[in-house]
Amino acid sequence: MDDHMKNIIDRFCDTKELSREDLHALLNISEEDREYLSLRAREKSISVFGKKIYLRGLIEISCYCKNDCYYCGIRRSNKNAERYRLIPEEIMSCVDMGHELGFRTFVLQGGEDVWYTDDIICSIVESIKKKYADSAVTLSLGEKSYESYKRFYDSGADRYLLRHETADKAHYSMLHPKDMSLDNRKECLYNLKKIGYQVGCGIMVGSPYQSEDTIYEDIAFMRDLQPHMIGIGPFIHHKDTPFANFENGSIHTTLVLLSILRIMFEKVLLPATTALGTADPMGREKGILAGANVLMPNLSPVSVRKKYSLYDNKICTGEEAAECRSCLENRIRSIGYEVDNGRGDHPDIERS
Ligand code: SAH
Repeated sequence: MDDHMKNIIDRFCDTKELSREDLHALLNISEEDREYLSLRAREKSISVFGKKIYLRGLIEISCYCKNDCYYCGIRRSNKNAERYRLIPEEIMSCVDMGHELGFRTFVLQGGEDVWYTDDIICSIVESIKKKYADSAVTLSLGEKSYESYKRFYDSGADRYLLRHETADKAHYSMLHPKDMSLDNRKECLYNLKKIGYQVGCGIMVGSPYQSEDTIYEDIAFMRDLQPHMIGIGPFIHHKDTPFANFENGSIHTTLVLLSILRIMFEKVLLPATTALGTADPMGREKGILAGANVLMPNLSPVSVRKKYSLYDNKICTGEEAAECRSCLENRIRSIGYEVDNGRGDHPDIERS
């Protein structure tokens, strides 16, 4: 391999410092040299988590959304989207099935759907926590006020996922309409941390107008926020959005970034996302080998899965929850890893 590149990677592993020049070099790494970066990242992940992968049962509760993000297939202006929302009883039956299958984290994700008042969200969280005291609840429901986040937390929610999407103001405004702002997104993330959640931020790799500079800013922002989880996956265009004609993000770059993030934030919970699995049939395995340690199988009812269409050709829309789980377990085993059946909290968090 290239000596200069090896030096950059080794120094980065030792110091966790990454200059703009180093980032430039890594983002332009050859596939052969990326194998070494992957190996170093994987070592870090194994030193913290062993060869264990945490599973999260993902329940896509609603595809109604009041926002109009240019990249997203469930944006409110998409008249072709077939909308659905799960009522609390339906969500609970997904959780029941998931718990039976061994999941101990449930992620409730959805568009920003005003049908779910804070009272409704709180009562869903409370019922899950009451019934399954051994399980964690993660919410991913977009931007809310400090008070709402606090109420969800007090009802028992443990974690919150809110990708910042980009930490560059100009870039943010190219991905979102004027009524959304990076400042508010960031404030939400800091509020979530302050309240006590395990917090996840993240970006789409190769989103329109992304550049090395915006990625550099993303990394600087993450260093400041110190998230417990980081969700990244390739941007994949959706045919009924303003970004229909933009190219998809690259798998190679996604894997490079996963490794960079693993090396920089050794203990972070880092999923190999469904978008990565969609972009490449072996994407999730490659993600784990690049340093990821979390997978999020779909627990949503099969009847709605196709409708939660953030991007084109999403995988796992035809299978039952049990099939998703066993498929992923086999994939994990095939690369020499095992499923961890615990809640999978961040290593620095004390269980309450
Ligand atoms: N409404 C919630 C959940 C959004 S969906 C929220 O605002 O956080 C979860 C993530 O899917 C988004 O944060 C975004 O990063 C990702 N996503 C949306 N559209 C996508 C696309 N076209 N390609 C890849 N990822 C996409």
